[in-house]
Amino acid sequence: MKLGKQSIGVGDRFTHQGAAQLRAIMKANEKGLDISPVWNKSNREHIYVGTEPADTRNEADTAVKALNYNGNYFVDADHINLTTVAKYVEVSDFFTLDVASFIGKESSREEVDAFVASCEKYMGEMQIPGLESPLKVTAALLQDVADKFLAATQHASEIYAYLKKEKGEGNFITEVSMDEVESPQTPVEMLFILKMLADKGVPVQTIAPKFTGRFNKGVDYVGDLDQFAIEFEEDVLVLDFAVKEFGLPEELKLSVHSGSDKFSIYPIMADVILRYDKGLHLKTAGTTWLEEVIGLAVAGGEGLELAKKIYENAYNRQEELCGPYADVINIDGSKLPTVEEVNGWSSEKYANTLRHIPEQPDYNANFRQLIHVAYKVAAEMGSDYTRLLVKYADVIGACVEENIYERHLRRLFTI
Ligand SMILES: [Zn+2]
Repeated sequence: MKLGKQSIGVGDRFTHQGAAQLRAIMKANEKGLDISPVWNKSNREHIYVGTEPADTRNEADTAVKALNYNGNYFVDADHINLTTVAKYVEVSDFFTLDVASFIGKESSREEVDAFVASCEKYMGEMQIPGLESPLKVTAALLQDVADKFLAATQHASEIYAYLKKEKGEGNFITEVSMDEVESPQTPVEMLFILKMLADKGVPVQTIAPKFTGRFNKGVDYVGDLDQFAIEFEEDVLVLDFAVKEFGLPEELKLSVHSGSDKFSIYPIMADVILRYDKGLHLKTAGTTWLEEVIGLAVAGGEGLELAKKIYENAYNRQEELCGPYADVINIDGSKLPTVEEVNGWSSEKYANTLRHIPEQPDYNANFRQLIHVAYKVAAEMGSDYTRLLVKYADVIGACVEENIYERHLRRLFTI
């Protein structure tokens, strides 16, 4: 099973927007692209929202059938590990093996020594085609990389072995993720991580490193764009080399866990993948939930009322809701509107404040981030929330489609 060159992960917390998301992808494909949709949902999201892995499978199959889509599509068990993978086996065909928590765990001296010895031929100045300067590989560097990443890649191979046994070889896509950590992996680390995965027989098709900079939820990238551009391009070249050198699947590509809406790095990634004729997998998640709230606000009536109620709840429960996301949000409380203010807003004012169009004078990234983490509030509302998703499906679906197509796909794939 192959993922295909270009793909996008369209997370959907409440599993109502599959068709709208697929419409956006089909629209891009009509313009000559070949983007595969992947419905990704992490174990954590399932728990917060109270959904089951089968709900995501059902959403994807239903959307595909309803729109007569005949391309490839996948259902991603996002950020799973050996303890959480079992319930995804039957319904998923894409598995994101999250090994971040194993980074830095100790491996035996023999394993570390064996790895360092196996890299003998790369010692000294290592030329990677396309890289401006050679990588400097020393025994100390290899030792360090092994200490950091051998246990993590070992864990990946254990999850992979389990999946291979349960689903059969070649019947699923394997991604390895290390993005949920503080320090970014450098291109040279990436190179040797890929060697470890190849040595352990993990046919990784997508790899999600931690990139430099902040990937706050639902808002734009914060960091040094030039540095990101260098790093991203070097990673692409390293992957290309690793495929040929270590015999990894030729489909291997970067997976960018964007936390949604990193618009300022889209043109950088677009330029690099176009220049080197490479693929990319981009994961979004909360952006669709935010469009649901925008759609409710735009719909007016009960919809706007509910959108205001969501904000009121979120505002009053900031500490609790933001706690689990402390590392990936950055809210300036003094810039949040009061509940009274928001309760006086029109549909337009609410939508313009939340919609991710920074040029729009009403746009407020603090408001947006707070709503982003407030999906728990909507989950608690249960059918009070989902009933309105059905009632205003047309308005909300149009918002979801426009967002994925206009703000994401067009920028990322230069449409
Ligand atoms: Zn991630």
